Amino acid sequence: MEKILEVKNLVTGYKTNGAVVKAVDGISFDIRKGETVCIVGESGSGKSVTSMSIIRLVEFENGQIMDGEILFNQENLINKDNDEMRKIRGSQISMIFQEPLTALNPVFTIGKQIVEAIMFHKKITKKEAYLQAEALIKLVGISDSKTRIKQYPHELSGGMRQRVMIAIALASEPELLIADEPTTALDVTIEAQILDLLRELKRERNMSIMLITHDIGVAAEMADRVVIMYAGKIMEISSAEEIFNEPLHPYSKGLLESVPKMKGERGVELKSITGSIPSLTQIPNGCRFSPRCPYATKVCYESEPDLEIKEGRQVACWLSDQLNSAYSNRSIEWESVK
Ligand code: SF4
Repeated sequence: MEKILEVKNLVTGYKTNGAVVKAVDGISFDIRKGETVCIVGESGSGKSVTSMSIIRLVEFENGQIMDGEILFNQENLINKDNDEMRKIRGSQISMIFQEPLTALNPVFTIGKQIVEAIMFHKKITKKEAYLQAEALIKLVGISDSKTRIKQYPHELSGGMRQRVMIAIALASEPELLIADEPTTALDVTIEAQILDLLRELKRERNMSIMLITHDIGVAAEMADRVVIMYAGKIMEISSAEEIFNEPLHPYSKGLLESVPKMKGERGVELKSITGSIPSLTQIPNGCRFSPRCPYATKVCYESEPDLEIKEGRQVACWLSDQLNSAYSNRSIEWESVK
């Protein structure tokens, strides 16, 4: 399948107290046409910095892309100036954020905001744009579009506001939609509806989706492939089915074991990963997961493993071969995670 996005050895840093800390430290992955790739990790893993780097908004947050390439349809976005990036953002690449209320302008009706997004990319009349806005509102599952289009963001529920954000993101018919924790602020029923909507839109439009989430259950629902990030590095890249049935990296395994299972035994306590993600200013020597890894051995504390290809999958762990056969609870029952 054709690759729409290739991130190669991306390093993004932030200046703090005169020093630069690397929030993303040499990551490489790709997204293919029509594919949903979920970037999964705890807060501080670098997943949001990755997305902000791709759309080059990280520079407006005091961040700096220090190395690497971001190839979008084979063009390196790192070489684009602000004007060129503004055209790409919101046209070929759109983004939706966690909290739609802060992303929407409170003083304009949702209709006006969708119309503006449409007219930014298409040379059509206001009347035509208004009709398209109405169609988009319907497409994202908001009923009574004629009334809703005249309402202000505060008159809508959280779920509806997120649907409006998706409508705005779709206004330019993007090839790649980046969704950064789009359902975190919503309750579970609305979350399921928004995820359904994204899946449907992807199918209908053959759009690629990069979904950022801390929730491995959401990744199980949505992903074709999963990228597991930890402290600025990629730990594992595998298909969704592989990662949920047979995680290679101890961190992937830990994340899966901390999810409640539908078919789990009653009274059995959920496992959690001990400790917490390291501060970017205090990345441990060797494997950065070693202080929390139950399998860590001498080599792990001394030297950092690279992301290596293992039978079509990618994993950064010195012991992945041994651990893969040693995991006793290999079948984590993918269906029960979903
Ligand atoms: Fe654990 Fe060592 Fe693998 Fe790191 S390299 S994940 S510490 S076993």
